[in-house]
Amino acid sequence: MYLHGTSQINGQGHLQIGGCDTMELAAQFGTPLYVMDEALIRQRCREFVQAFRASGLSFQVAYASKAFCVMAMCRLVEEEGLSLDVVSDGELHTALQAGFPPERIHFHGNNKTPYEIEMALDAGIGCFVVDNFTELHLLNAIAADHKKCARILLRLTPGVEAHTHEYITTGQEDSKFGFNMNNGSAFRAVEEASKLPHIDLLGIHSHIGSQIFEVEGFKLAGEKMIGFATRVRSELGVTFKVVNLGGGFGIRYVEGDTPLPVGDYVKAITENILSHFTSHDYPVPEIWIEPGRSIVGDSGTTLYTVGSTKDIPGVRKYVAVDGGMTDNPRPALYQSQYEAMLANRARDKDEETVSIAGKCCESGDMLIWDVSLPKVNPGDLLAVASTGAYNYAMASNYNRIRRPAVVFVKDGQADVIVKRESYEDITGNDVIPARLCKEAVNTTP
Ligand SMILES: *Cc1c(COP(=O)(O)O)cnc(C)c1O
Repeated sequence: MYLHGTSQINGQGHLQIGGCDTMELAAQFGTPLYVMDEALIRQRCREFVQAFRASGLSFQVAYASKAFCVMAMCRLVEEEGLSLDVVSDGELHTALQAGFPPERIHFHGNNKTPYEIEMALDAGIGCFVVDNFTELHLLNAIAADHKKCARILLRLTPGVEAHTHEYITTGQEDSKFGFNMNNGSAFRAVEEASKLPHIDLLGIHSHIGSQIFEVEGFKLAGEKMIGFATRVRSELGVTFKVVNLGGGFGIRYVEGDTPLPVGDYVKAITENILSHFTSHDYPVPEIWIEPGRSIVGDSGTTLYTVGSTKDIPGVRKYVAVDGGMTDNPRPALYQSQYEAMLANRARDKDEETVSIAGKCCESGDMLIWDVSLPKVNPGDLLAVASTGAYNYAMASNYNRIRRPAVVFVKDGQADVIVKRESYEDITGNDVIPARLCKEAVNTTP
């Protein structure tokens, strides 16, 4: 398993992250456990910010909080000077609860409810990224009621296909997201938005996909955005102050994943933008980007305790752990691949190829197919790398499994940032109607 950030193997032959022995973390907090390398998250934030500073352009780096949205993370991101993307009232609530400055919050999503729009307007968020005509007019009407003017970007679909898994490609034409640039609806959206009295059109947005390892897609999308901006300026007299190129920067999950240094993505985007806008004699807008996975993905490691194993000679050996698709649905959803190691015997030589199964009642509940490990025994501590993004965020209570705790580790200190769910969390929202009460009471031990 590749060792990210501060991960290393210590004198006892244990995996250590942020100066904390993972055996001790497992003993103290239980498993499954999400361990987040705080120094690495901060490093990633700084890489983006520094690359933009070097470009000399005005910018905002907005962390796409959907990758991992909890209050401590919002605090950390604020300390690092980033902005924050939210896509629901729940994420907005989390950010506000954490004291995140509302003016640095951007609200995304293809179906914002009237309630969410009101909540965001009342909070005074920085910007709405408007996805469709329904929302544009709804937002104008609600802003009018509230005697406010909503700052917006229009989300455009540039028709650029990023090279990635089909389910996580959002920039192509057949998409539920955004205004189509090729059939005139993006142009019409600008026309309408610039006439609406309670809308302040700042600029345009695109997001071409996820887990992208090349700069070409961003360059291409950037060029289409620039072409659009110049056409809009000459035909409508509207000049954009902001161009947002979204997120999607790839990270390393397994060998063969070849992410570029964060600075390379930023450099490619900013140089391209700068040269094109300058050559069109267009005042260079602020450039915004929205990394999610690349901020938190490789800083997360999940620790599991190995339980049962099942060896089918000549077929496969299954090794089951105390978690699975409930804490990491990505392999089941996207056939995502992960690397693992035995955290308690990190120096032992690989001896067998096994497949890591979860404990849910689904044959598809597999975390890793075919991973080389030392001889695995019940009680071993298995570490799975790069689980920082879209793991806790996508976790469920399927089979009524309680969501694991999350800890930040740094300089030998471990702090719980999300508590392990309790049985009360599991049944707390259940209601037994009166007509069912007697039996339910009788079955209570
Ligand atoms: C999901 C998303 C992001 C972040 O994507 P990552 O792949 O996590 O970087 C950014 N912008 C928008 C609009 C998104 O939907």
